Amino acid sequence: MDAVNLLDYDLDGLTAFCEQLGEKRFRATQLFRWIHQKGATDFEQMSDLAKSLRSKLKGIAAVTPLTVISEHVSADGTIKWLFDVGGGNAVESVYIPESDRGTLCISSQAGCAVGCRFCSTGHQGFSRNLTTGEIIAQLWYAEHTLRARLGTTDRIISNVVMMGMGEPLQNYSALVPALKAMLDDHGYGLSRRRVTVSTSGVVPMIERLKDDCPVALAVSLHAPNDPLRDELVPLNKKYPIDELLTACLDYLEAAPRDFITFEYCMLDGVNDSDEQAQELIALVKGRINCKFNLIPFNPFPQSGLYRSDMSRVQAFGRVLADAGIITTIRKTRGDDIDAACGQLAGEVQDRTNASNRLLRQAVTVKVASPKPGERNRQPQ
Ligand code: SAH
Ligand code: SF4
Repeated sequence: MDAVNLLDYDLDGLTAFCEQLGEKRFRATQLFRWIHQKGATDFEQMSDLAKSLRSKLKGIAAVTPLTVISEHVSADGTIKWLFDVGGGNAVESVYIPESDRGTLCISSQAGCAVGCRFCSTGHQGFSRNLTTGEIIAQLWYAEHTLRARLGTTDRIISNVVMMGMGEPLQNYSALVPALKAMLDDHGYGLSRRRVTVSTSGVVPMIERLKDDCPVALAVSLHAPNDPLRDELVPLNKKYPIDELLTACLDYLEAAPRDFITFEYCMLDGVNDSDEQAQELIALVKGRINCKFNLIPFNPFPQSGLYRSDMSRVQAFGRVLADAGIITTIRKTRGDDIDAACGQLAGEVQDRTNASNRLLRQAVTVKVASPKPGERNRQPQ
């Protein structure tokens, strides 16, 4: 029998596991602290654990991190890691240092089944859900590696965003214990406001997250109406905008922040006109407290899409801001190492044929027409 990976548990799970071994709750707390706060993998290192418990654990459990395949460091300090998750699949995490915070962007799935037109992960199709252990191992590795590198025991990562590969709310049962370990004072002790789940809009799971583990919520909107959103984010056909906004409004009752962040990927000639900004305003104004985060599209081969000019992004943002909606433009980080939003590709053994489906769509659906004088520009 394979050893149980203790990274698969939040504190409640580890407590239940220890109780099965006849151990008291405080032993589980000690063990949890060794693993997550000190980064220990060797039970012998865990000096204040009873010897009897250490030897019980040795036979049946292990702390099994992910194997790193590669590390890339950007000129701006951003670090991208590629982790092996077996079976020919690999996922990516990105560390983004800023003066007042350290953010880790984490993957939740090998690939993604949603298949958004503008997303490199979506084009790769879907292989499988990550386990809780594989999700939390990304934070475990980044935090303890960076601490060791910087020679400190201080916390490095203050913010986590579930914005790497995958749709976190389509891997709900593994996600929630991972979030709980991030928030736990005996784990990483992150504030709920500083842990963000980003979703393309899995409405029933937004409702469940509200009860199970309310953290900050970012919703990938990308379009002001259903016909366009159906095309860009296929999940919209199942959960259209009106249902999505109702779920967001509901979520705010329990959310640690009093607004929802709407992410909006700016695609030249597709969703970036002033009229579309007005349409967005009509959609949300007076209905839901929100902020917009405009993401300049990060190109990748085969998308068939163009990035909006920066002047267009700014003008679009101004229309929203003039209507009183707080709007930010996402800074692109780690561009030189393909670590920007939507560029995370890892390696995915597609089981869904999504990559072929999306390629066919790119040919049949007209989404971007070159502007005059830009005829020779190739899709990026
Ligand atoms: N599946 C989740 C979280 C991962 S994607 C979601 O869709 O929200 C994280 C963010 O990156 C989303 O807002 C997504 O729309 C955006 N994104 C995806 N591809 C992108 C690209 N090529 N350029 C810019 N942003 C992109
Ligand atoms: Fe999946 Fe998010 Fe990419 Fe859409 S944007 S394909 S939901 S990872």
